[in-house]
Amino acid sequence: MTKKIQFTLDYNIDVEDHLEKNYPEMTDYRILNQALDARGANRGKVPRYTYNIEILLAGEQFEAVQEKFVNVGPFTNIPIIIGAGPGGLFCALRLADFGVNSIVIERGDRAHSRMLHIAKFWRYGVFDAENNVCYGEGGAGLFSDGKLITRIKSPFVQYVMNRFVDFGAPKETAYISNPHLGSNKIRGLINKMTDFLRERGTVVRYNTRVDRLIIENGEVIGVELNNGEKLYSKYIVLATGHSAKEIYVHLDDLKVEMKQKDFAVGVRIEHPRELIDQIQYGDFKGQDLGAARYRLSYEDSFSKKGTYSFCMCPGGYVLSSGTETNGIVVNGMSNYARNSRWSNAALVVSVKAGIDFESSKLLGGLNFQHKIEEKAFEASKQNASGKELPAQTLLEFMENKISSNNTLNKTSAPSGLVKTSIREILPTFVTKHLENALLKFDESLKGFISDKAVLIAPETRTSSPVTILRDKVSLESTSHHGLFPCGEGAGHAGGITSAAVDGVKIAMSLIKKEKGFDP
Ligand SMILES: Cc1cc2nc3c(=O)[nH]c(=O)nc-3n(C[C@H](O)[C@H](O)[C@H](O)COP(=O)(O)OP(=O)(O)OC[C@H]3O[C@@H](n4cnc5c(N)ncnc54)[C@H](O)[C@@H]3O)c2cc1C
Repeated sequence: MTKKIQFTLDYNIDVEDHLEKNYPEMTDYRILNQALDARGANRGKVPRYTYNIEILLAGEQFEAVQEKFVNVGPFTNIPIIIGAGPGGLFCALRLADFGVNSIVIERGDRAHSRMLHIAKFWRYGVFDAENNVCYGEGGAGLFSDGKLITRIKSPFVQYVMNRFVDFGAPKETAYISNPHLGSNKIRGLINKMTDFLRERGTVVRYNTRVDRLIIENGEVIGVELNNGEKLYSKYIVLATGHSAKEIYVHLDDLKVEMKQKDFAVGVRIEHPRELIDQIQYGDFKGQDLGAARYRLSYEDSFSKKGTYSFCMCPGGYVLSSGTETNGIVVNGMSNYARNSRWSNAALVVSVKAGIDFESSKLLGGLNFQHKIEEKAFEASKQNASGKELPAQTLLEFMENKISSNNTLNKTSAPSGLVKTSIREILPTFVTKHLENALLKFDESLKGFISDKAVLIAPETRTSSPVTILRDKVSLESTSHHGLFPCGEGAGHAGGITSAAVDGVKIAMSLIKKEKGFDP
């Protein structure tokens, strides 16, 4: 029996030295979990790591962490997976682990070619509707901060982490409490993952878009591609993400059961990284603690609306991440080292279906988002070339004024910024809540309201504005047999890991349906 121990150590104490001193009989060890607690560092409290560790004594062996898979053999109906984001790819991967081939259909290109299109968009405003920050191999996750943290509890989370490590993620991904890959690592490992899938017999069709689901007697029996080709299967996994607007419109036309969902909109706030490190770490700034993070939330006692930080990218970049020619959307990413000179996060206000946007139209949330994105684009076009992101200094936003000079702080955003009043882009209830919440945030993070901070808008795609309803056990659409809504676009995930886990769950459901196999 191996021994499991838990302890905390000051951030600068070597864990191996500690183990060797305290457990001299140990022959090997592995870290099961490691979490940094830097609360109070700005008041001089030494940051500490909590470790959960398994140690081995002579003659003992670690239990294998990798699952063993049985080959259940091919399906008579090859599953068709629409979308090569984390949801779709992990569905294909799990199927492949059990010896099942699938066809993955992806509207965009392979990760490396996709990057060239994105660079053109950021630098010159040349937009490609099929290859952008949300579309193409790897999905929206490819240009992310690569935070793998999730709040969901599923046994498949560990599988996802282990598979990331198998394809090249740093080995601590499997055990630290806040794993982070960064865009640069994700790009490399997604390539390896799709190469592996293809070697195993999975077909990945790039630059191919699904335009229509084929329906017969109320069941989904196949897909029609943008070249007119039709493919048939009784297993259609829909993992198109939350930006594929035309898919939602198509599902609405087909009367696929969906319901409206709350989401959130707001801005991205960018500070110099040094400032956030100083606020959070105090005198420990510059030590080996990584770029500092924060998490903020505030509930307005009158409206009961929440305003919160989201998708924080310490040492990261602010990105233009829209999917339409006439709309601007912002988001954030970082590389593994998190070493840019800025730290950014979304600051968003909750948006309630039926209260903040029309509830009579199922896709009212989508229209609400798009109107904001369109306003941002118009503002950018009016004051610059249409590629620059609308932005205002935080102080000017708080004072509800905008100076005539066009100077803004230096930014990480490769598309550049254009000075615009944020209040002209976002609905008043959003800016009002942001303003109130920012005052509270500055109380908990002293110096957060700073002349060095800038607000960049709009952050609209925080989550899907609808949920595609599905059976709790089979995960099949409640209205259309054969359709398996998957991942973030279906409203069943929010983030890379939960979308990947959802793909795994669907793969397991398909295996059970076709083979009766339920390990
Ligand atoms: C800039 C940015 C940063 C982010 N940072 C993080 C982060 O740090 N951590 C985190 O957990 N999450 C992050 N996210 C969110 C995360 O990326 C998503 O939650 C996740 O990618 C959702 O996975 P998915 O597979 O459900 O959908 P997506 O990743 O959106 O993938 C959908 C795929 O379907 C394809 N597709 C769409 N329509 C069609 C069609 N008709 N035919 C064929 N293919 C189609 C798309 O091209 C795309 O590849 C970030 C998102 C963005 C945009």
